[in-house]
Amino acid sequence: MPGPNTTTLDLEDRIRRLEGDIEHLSRHDQLTGLLTRAAFISILDKMPVPQERAKRHGALIEVAVRGVPRISGTMGRHVGDYVISALAARLNLLPLPHSTKARIDHSHFAVLLPDVSDPLEALTAAKEIIATLSTPVDWVDRKLSVDLAAGVALAADNDGDATNLIHNTELALKTATTRGGPGYAFFNPALAQSARRRNDVLLALQTAVDNHSLYLNYQPIYDATRGRLVGFEALMRMKSPELGPVSPAEFIPVAEEAGLISRLGAWSLAEACRAASNWPQHLTLSVNISPEQFYAGNLVTDVHNALELWSFPAYRLEIEITESTLLKDSDTVLSQLSTLREMGCAVVLDDFGTGYSSLSYLWKFPFSKLKIDRAFVTALDSSPMAKGILQSIIGLAKNLGLKITAEGIETEAHAQTLITLGADLLQGYYMSRPVEEVDLAHVVLKGACDKLLPKGAAQESAELSRALIGR
Ligand code: C2E
Ligand code: MG
Ligand code: MG
Repeated sequence: MPGPNTTTLDLEDRIRRLEGDIEHLSRHDQLTGLLTRAAFISILDKMPVPQERAKRHGALIEVAVRGVPRISGTMGRHVGDYVISALAARLNLLPLPHSTKARIDHSHFAVLLPDVSDPLEALTAAKEIIATLSTPVDWVDRKLSVDLAAGVALAADNDGDATNLIHNTELALKTATTRGGPGYAFFNPALAQSARRRNDVLLALQTAVDNHSLYLNYQPIYDATRGRLVGFEALMRMKSPELGPVSPAEFIPVAEEAGLISRLGAWSLAEACRAASNWPQHLTLSVNISPEQFYAGNLVTDVHNALELWSFPAYRLEIEITESTLLKDSDTVLSQLSTLREMGCAVVLDDFGTGYSSLSYLWKFPFSKLKIDRAFVTALDSSPMAKGILQSIIGLAKNLGLKITAEGIETEAHAQTLITLGADLLQGYYMSRPVEEVDLAHVVLKGACDKLLPKGAAQESAELSRALIGR
């Protein structure tokens, strides 16, 4: 018969085991049995870190499983969870010596290879992981496919602690997911630098509207046959106190990614309508609209509010979109475009010819105009094919009853070629760079571009504008 001491020992043993179970549960993900993010970081933290970076060993691979939200959304969350646990089981079975595996986010796995310091070895492991996980998962009588991407970082490239090493793999993973091509990417210090710059731009953008560091420039658009000014395109500019001038080619994608573009877009619509409400009635206003503004769902209201606030007529507003707007969720986009057309706005397809499916969208939506991408105009200088391509695009637009604007006209030769080929409107540095609002009156008063007028008419126009402007 057990004495009182035996019972105490039993109890202590059970408590110890229970504590062990609790500890195991808290360190392991319930769905997959892999380590949790916190447990994984604590293991990374305990890795010895030699002072000299070059002597640091270890490679970290982060794998993102894309498509799980789609599976959960269409077939139920339990199916999404099943896919994750099936992939985790495959990952667990992969013979990667001394590796530590974890589920660090809903559909992200991480693998630490503590002995690996050779980039090729790390890359081979990443490719093996992707190959193993990317075969479809069987579910009842279906095969569920997922898309995988991996980011790889070496401890030898890491300046900081464990969290920083994870951050490095995440940067590499982001590159792998956004650039297309192979499903993996390596961290390099330039990535960290561009992430820091993106972050600085984002910080500047967050206060830009209130700080007045955001403003609009306006580039004139001229009628190709008579050289007359027909309107302006509003182009966003940013001059931050900390960063100086930042190009829209840089800050617009940052604003889109951070979900700020809707706010900036609403501001630019209202601001452009305010400026344009002072122009003569025959001049149009073109405003660029980001795809994200369509997905956010406020665009029609923003346009309506801007027009109403400044009593600016819808028929003078041209909405410029690029083909990328029509790639994703095109029904949502097309219905908003139709509403804008019903309101009286024109819709222009910008940067035409650079996207993926230029022609298929031409009959899906009644565009008012096509704007040929400036790459085709620039190519006139170097490619004997460029003229033929421009001719075909202009012919196509005319057959469809669309007007055509050629942008990026930088030389007299560009202007002459595009006029001969039958472009309706011209825009580019040759006639005028984008101008500040304070300088618009001068351009409006001139009313035509001398460079596009026949010689005699140009002289007459110059005299007239000197008289009007008083110089
Ligand atoms: P985009 O809409 O195609 O605008 C034309 C771009 O070409 C402008 O660049 C303009 O300054 C530039 N450009 C005009 N003529 C010439 C020329 O003869 N030669 C050269 N090399 N360039 C010329 P910018 O202002 O830097 O804008 C770049 C892009 O940023 C725009 O391309 C547009 O996609 C985007 N963007 C600008 N403002 C806005 C905005 O308010 N909202 C949104 N969503 N996007 C904007
Ligand atoms: Mg544009
Ligand atoms: Mg363009």
